[in-house]
Amino acid sequence: MGIKERPISSAAFKRAEQVIPGGVDSPVRALRSVGTTPLFVKEASGAYVKDIDDNIYIDFCMSWGVFILGHSNVQVRQKAIEAIGRGSSYGIPTTAETELAEAVRRAIPSMERLRFVNSGTEATMSAIRVARGYTGRDILVKFEGCYHGHADHLLVSAGSAVANIGTASSAGVPKSFTQHTVCLPYNDTEVLERYFEENGDKVAAVIIEPVACNMGVVVPDDRFLHAVRRVTNEKGALLIFDEVITGFRLAYGGAQERFGIVPDLTTVGKIVGGGFPAAAFGGRRDVMAVLAPDGPVYQAGTLAGNPVAMAAGIETLRQVSRQGFYEELERRSEKFIERLKRVIDGKGIQLNHCGSMFTLFFTDQPVRNFADAKKADQERFARYFQNMLERGIYVSPSQFEGNFISESHTDEILDYVLKSIKESIE
Ligand SMILES: *Cc1c(COP(=O)(O)O)cnc(C)c1O
Repeated sequence: MGIKERPISSAAFKRAEQVIPGGVDSPVRALRSVGTTPLFVKEASGAYVKDIDDNIYIDFCMSWGVFILGHSNVQVRQKAIEAIGRGSSYGIPTTAETELAEAVRRAIPSMERLRFVNSGTEATMSAIRVARGYTGRDILVKFEGCYHGHADHLLVSAGSAVANIGTASSAGVPKSFTQHTVCLPYNDTEVLERYFEENGDKVAAVIIEPVACNMGVVVPDDRFLHAVRRVTNEKGALLIFDEVITGFRLAYGGAQERFGIVPDLTTVGKIVGGGFPAAAFGGRRDVMAVLAPDGPVYQAGTLAGNPVAMAAGIETLRQVSRQGFYEELERRSEKFIERLKRVIDGKGIQLNHCGSMFTLFFTDQPVRNFADAKKADQERFARYFQNMLERGIYVSPSQFEGNFISESHTDEILDYVLKSIKESIE
């Protein structure tokens, strides 16, 4: 499946750079860290994407985990097209919003009340505002290496001390905007307990990726995740699970079903919109009651609950709620992971995985937090990415991202991928 050159993509990129900063609408798409010019997509179907040079790739990025059914699922596409035929936005309620909200709540019962927005960024932003409105407190605790969208006060990295007020990780964010954000190390129960001992009663909420996916896949220790729930309960802070990636991915009911921990608020995105811009935040009924028009916390959206996105989301959730869907995805993923373990054995590579998500870290030390992840050899990762691309496989283009197995990644495809990984790392 050797890949030819990409002259048309290269020309498209040059043209894009003349009008779009960096030529892309989201920075990682520029493929800078892997030293490659981006491919431009013509179309995608199942586990495959085709670029405008007509090269075909097995996709492991899957729009960053959106397509658990594979690209361009026939029924999802059909439902979206039908919805467009009835008009694509009204700014007036539709029953589709209620229908998808009910489906989300069936999967994630802790989302007793929920509201739709257009992106994961909006969902976390809104959940945090709700938590602050409900508790009357300001401090937000997040964990280093977790990503919750690009809102000002969330673009924070850890300060120099172990537990510190975060400093902005992006230019353009005033110091005062991050003064209520505290950044703690992931998977460190002691630091968390110590921080809460002293400051817990000032904390509005803790927001966490219950399995981190935005520093590469990093799985929480059981003890750590339970501690997060316990200390927030003890001190009257709310717990927000950011399940924008893990929702409908790690189980029908997301990470909270998988680990048996019930948060106060949850955000979902990616899968829930079936490939269209939709996300949701929700949780305890009494907490969500602070939202306008019932309560004093303002939040709104012109395209929120968009009928096309709702139709695609309803059909996607209908398909994943099918008996045995996650069992089969899990079986296939486990088989792949077991074989992958053998392929990388003794090669100085860490395999982090959970369900149908995995990351290969190019380091010989275990990766349990962001500091560990940053030790990975990015140049080696870049070579691996390029080698895989040459073999017709598009893995997520950064050491700090996850790869996603979908229903369309058959055992046969995964066999080819294993063979290619073996060649690529040698
Ligand atoms: C992708 C992601 C977001 C942001 O969602 P957008 O739709 O890109 O704004 C937030 N949190 C997590 C965990 C994510 O993976």
